[in-house]
Amino acid sequence: MTGDVTVISGPTAVGKGTLVAALASAHPEVLVSVSATTRPPRPGEVDGTHYHFVSDAAFDELIACDGLLEWASVHGDTRYGTPRAPVESAVAAGRRVILEIDLQGARQVKQRLPGVRTIFILPPDRQALEDRLRTRGTESDAEIVRRLQTADYELTCVDEFDHVVVNDDLGEAVAELVRLIGLSD
Ligand code: 5GP
Repeated sequence: MTGDVTVISGPTAVGKGTLVAALASAHPEVLVSVSATTRPPRPGEVDGTHYHFVSDAAFDELIACDGLLEWASVHGDTRYGTPRAPVESAVAAGRRVILEIDLQGARQVKQRLPGVRTIFILPPDRQALEDRLRTRGTESDAEIVRRLQTADYELTCVDEFDHVVVNDDLGEAVAELVRLIGLSD
């Protein structure tokens, strides 16, 4: 499978979800992959839209039947993965595809799809991450500490990516993504 696939990664609470949602609503021709996850939904999250929320057993089954293009345990025991079939159908139909996944997933996709484009989203500064995470209020203190530790490691791996976009101003960051992915305004 080749095709035009873009991986977007970045530390927790950097605003990847907001950026990708803005991009998707301006460019419905792009397929944004919906990941499977074993974590429970946050308030407002819709099954099949934000994630496919699945049990551990169902996730095991997806792995066993080679149904995932990549998967990783992120933030402890929670598993996240990219369902393979929708990505393959979109690529076969000539659609551009975006995967919003973590660093471990980005590394796997780079191995499996050598032509993939990889973009890392950076916060304006480290404090902005912590502030956003605390303001979001969806994680416990222990979970916040764990997510910030992961973020600190991920920030050291930015050189593995083809491009870097700083998410300071939402509109500017989306415009930069549109340019990097080669979409028309
Ligand atoms: P959250 O629980 O905040 O929605 O996401 C936590 C992390 O999981 C984020 O860094 C996000 O990029 C990552 N993630 C979401 N979906 C996938 C996926 O399908 N594969 C991988 N490897 N990571 C994912």
